[in-house]
Amino acid sequence: MTLVDKRGPGEETSYGNTGVIVGASVFPTGFPRSLSKLIQVAMKRAPEANYHLGDLLRIAPWLISYHGFSTEEKLKDSAVKMRPLMSRSVAEHKALLDESGALKYLRENGWLTLYRSAAAFEALQRQLEFGATIGVAAQELDIDGALALEPSLAPVFRHALMWPDVASLSNPLMVTRAFAARLAALGGTFVNGDARSLKRADGRWQVETAAGPVAATNAVVALGPWSTDVLEPLGIKVPLGIKRGYHRHYAPKGNAMLSRPVIDTEYGYALTPMEQGIRLTTGAEFAARDAPPTPVQFDRLLHHAQALFPLGEPNESTTWLGRRPNMPDSLPVLGRAPGQSGRDGLWLDFGHGHWGLTLGPVCGRLIAEMMTGATPFTDPAPYRAERFG
Ligand SMILES: Cc1cc2nc3c(=O)[nH]c(=O)nc-3n(C[C@H](O)[C@H](O)[C@H](O)COP(=O)(O)OP(=O)(O)OC[C@H]3O[C@@H](n4cnc5c(N)ncnc54)[C@H](O)[C@@H]3O)c2cc1C
Repeated sequence: MTLVDKRGPGEETSYGNTGVIVGASVFPTGFPRSLSKLIQVAMKRAPEANYHLGDLLRIAPWLISYHGFSTEEKLKDSAVKMRPLMSRSVAEHKALLDESGALKYLRENGWLTLYRSAAAFEALQRQLEFGATIGVAAQELDIDGALALEPSLAPVFRHALMWPDVASLSNPLMVTRAFAARLAALGGTFVNGDARSLKRADGRWQVETAAGPVAATNAVVALGPWSTDVLEPLGIKVPLGIKRGYHRHYAPKGNAMLSRPVIDTEYGYALTPMEQGIRLTTGAEFAARDAPPTPVQFDRLLHHAQALFPLGEPNESTTWLGRRPNMPDSLPVLGRAPGQSGRDGLWLDFGHGHWGLTLGPVCGRLIAEMMTGATPFTDPAPYRAERFG
């Protein structure tokens, strides 16, 4: 098996995420439906979202589709279809971390989601009731209960939920590197190359690499936000959208510490303890994938984050930009490339959106089962690329 990447393993989106392995979650992140929230976003005042006006027309078809998949019924449908993947995600990570000698990066102590207003917490109740019907566990905590778990937080919130089936990683980049080293130990190869050179040659799939052309009977396109760069020249269209997000690391002040990721739902950011410091990650920015970074959300939310946790100085002078590869229904694309005999042996595994770290190992298992003819652990039909027509 040969893994081809233009960079080192895990150096793009998989480097900079919030590090959460979401073994239990209810609705995927939907398009805001409240008018007041939409106005706040439109006025560029929302801490949790930003957009580039000049790119809106180009991304409008995806946004309209995403909006259509954000009704309560559709979110429930996506949650049910995601459940078989999410419920196995921690176990799959753990097994892979174990055999890769990387268990030291795993924390199995959940995450905390915080609610600053009673109204925000009440609005969540229907979602939690639905979550309980599909096996998602969340424990309600009062302020004292949350502070007992994370004593360095300030009580600027009114309600908290602890999600016990969630895990997190203290260094996602080192984990991907450990997985790549495990691939090499099993006889696989990693090589730099440009996947846009993928073509059919002599009945096989061939790609140009630094080590010369590599050919194989099967090829898997797993390029996250860049997957369409390879698929569109092959005539395969999928509605992949991009939700950009940023991070920066901060030193905690004094003896302050966090032991698990904390989400401030009101302002849509997360604080995660990482080996590099406390990683502050932002919500979504709707902009062209390759547009220059505009980390304005930090200006809008940093004072809220500092009020919640004693963040000291940033550990870097620059802000990291990542690109969540999102399908409108928030489900990944997994399985054979659509139709036509010339595409035999071409497989797809991308579009994991907000939860690609979570889903990497479990989707890797599922596609491997499909490719080898083994019985898939779950019905892969909901993830077919053809679901969009
Ligand atoms: C701010 C933020 C926070 C997040 N938090 C979480 C979280 O807590 N939990 C979670 O589960 N998910 C989270 N995510 C989402 C998650 O990080 C992504 O879904 C996931 O990393 C996508 O992985 P990927 O391998 O598909 O894409 P990537 O990690 O981006 O990998 C794509 C690879 O393709 C390579 N490539 C690109 N073009 C070419 C080419 N032409 N030829 C060869 N190689 C190429 C790149 O070098 C790269 O290595 C977050 C994302 C962001 C932005």
